[in-house]
Amino acid sequence: MQKGAIRVQTENIFPIIKKFLYSDHEIFIRELVSNAVDATQKLKTLASAGEFNGELGDLSIEVKVDKEQKTITIADHGIGMTAEEVDKYINQVAFSGAEEFLKKYKGQENGTNIIGHFGLGFYSSFMVSSKVEIFTKSWREDANAVRWECDGSPEYTLEDTSKAERGTSIVMHINEESEEFLEDGRIRNILEKFCKFLPIPIMFEGAQINNTSPAWTKKPSELTTEDYQNFYKELYPFSEPPLFWIHLNVDYPFNLTGILYFPKISKSYEIQKDKISLYSNQVYVTDEVKDIVPEFLMLLHGVIDSPDIPLNVSRSYLQGDPNVKKINGYITRKVADKLDEIFRNDRKSFEEKWDSIGLFVKYGMMTDDKFLDKANKFMIFEEVDDKKFYTLEEYREAASALQTNKENKLVILYATNPVQQDSYVQAAKAKGYKVVKMETLVDAAFINNMEMKWENVAFTRVDADIADNLIDKNDNETTVLSQEQETTLKGLFTSQITQPNIKVEMKGLSAEAQPVIVTRPEFMRRMKDMAAVGGGSMNWYASMPDEINMTVNANHPVYTQILKENNQELQEKQIRNLADLALLSQSLLTGADLTAFVNRSVELMGIQNK
Ligand code: ADP
Repeated sequence: MQKGAIRVQTENIFPIIKKFLYSDHEIFIRELVSNAVDATQKLKTLASAGEFNGELGDLSIEVKVDKEQKTITIADHGIGMTAEEVDKYINQVAFSGAEEFLKKYKGQENGTNIIGHFGLGFYSSFMVSSKVEIFTKSWREDANAVRWECDGSPEYTLEDTSKAERGTSIVMHINEESEEFLEDGRIRNILEKFCKFLPIPIMFEGAQINNTSPAWTKKPSELTTEDYQNFYKELYPFSEPPLFWIHLNVDYPFNLTGILYFPKISKSYEIQKDKISLYSNQVYVTDEVKDIVPEFLMLLHGVIDSPDIPLNVSRSYLQGDPNVKKINGYITRKVADKLDEIFRNDRKSFEEKWDSIGLFVKYGMMTDDKFLDKANKFMIFEEVDDKKFYTLEEYREAASALQTNKENKLVILYATNPVQQDSYVQAAKAKGYKVVKMETLVDAAFINNMEMKWENVAFTRVDADIADNLIDKNDNETTVLSQEQETTLKGLFTSQITQPNIKVEMKGLSAEAQPVIVTRPEFMRRMKDMAAVGGGSMNWYASMPDEINMTVNANHPVYTQILKENNQELQEKQIRNLADLALLSQSLLTGADLTAFVNRSVELMGIQNK
């Protein structure tokens, strides 16, 4: 038997490792099972290279919990280790790795976010064990089986033992604070989290935990639509089927595979972030892919597998990492290309899915200029009522003749609530304008953003002004009233409409247009919309009273009628009612004003019946 002291400078590194890893104890399973997988794959490599000619036999890895003995055992049939190898890899190399880690991060109190993905390898077993034993037998024919034992102090023992089978068993004697890990359910959960897609079968309680060849590891040409859908179900058992997916596969200048799914989103509050999992050679690493996947694609679901993403460094470092930047750009490009492909090859289904896709696309166009360039070709507007879709270029072609303003900008007319804004939509359509839907959560921000990014485009909400003025102001229409009648009518309105936030103006519109039309100026309304979503410094706008433009259509025949009356009180009430009707149609009449309107209406009916 060999006894020795592990060569480390720190007196006893385990208390420090424990402290660092405190919040993440469960990763010891991932580390040890990964080692077992590596050892098994190395053996397979030796076999296919012809260096190992023996029986491979059953290569599955077994995880065993013994509650009475208080042990967890991880047993593989991989290459195993000779005594010399244990000495080299466990006593020297592994320890120096642990030591190096400590040197690097000592003094950084907030160690958890660094350590989160730092594989401390074999020595992570000491986080949960009072003693660890290794029983191992090398694949080499003349090798003796050996047993290594260590209780976490720098002293270890190494001796020959009898072990019939090739491979390594790690036996962890679980310490008192870690007894939770002796619960079957706990180990099962950990295995399902970290080991679900490992490439070698992992057995626990007689059943295999993992799918050894998940879809992303296969070639796209080997997979059917059903395979992709089934894999989605495997990842998210209770979700609706995805809309479509993108198979990622690069090997230069970095290695990356994966499948990203576009989930079906019917309501914006259903959006779930953090549904992409990061793997490294099929070992689960994290669900926090914030720095690897562009922000706007965080809404996608799926798996990314890359051994080239540095896992052992802090977040701020990750953001500056050139590989991570390239990966970010690559994913963005792939997503844009896929959308473009669907748009060009199957526009109908693209349009059908637009409710779900539109959100990603718009978000992406706002936040990523490279994506914007590509998305300009497939971002579509849906026309109110008509189920007809336009790209920006198509809209320009269809609408520019009528909808170009003084400044030579294309005016995109939109409705945020086509039902409520229906009368305006109809008025605009009657003039031959094309009104598109802008109903979703991101649209207010999207509009502001695209006005800056798109040249010669302005957005105007369909109820921002009366239809005649939506595109280009033209004020010189005359009315059918005489000068004197106009003055009287104006007087009636100003005596009745006294609210400071309502601006009254008189115009000679067509006789068929409504007698009073209420609009809210585009700028103020937009600020309020943004304030409603944004909060913070925008709140100031939210608290402002609505600024209202009230246009009196002096050409409407009702005024000629009213002006004929000799009863000023009646005239005032009628004018007031016309104004209230217009406010009511825009949901701007509430409280006492609404009550007064109802009472006045009843009263007016009585008068008319006299
Ligand atoms: P890493 O896996 O990062 O190299 P570890 O501390 O986990 O670091 O392991 C150190 C070394 O010990 C491994 O590189 C490997 O050579 C050896 N080793 C660990 N576990 C096994 C195993 N189950 N079978 C064979 N060799 C192993």
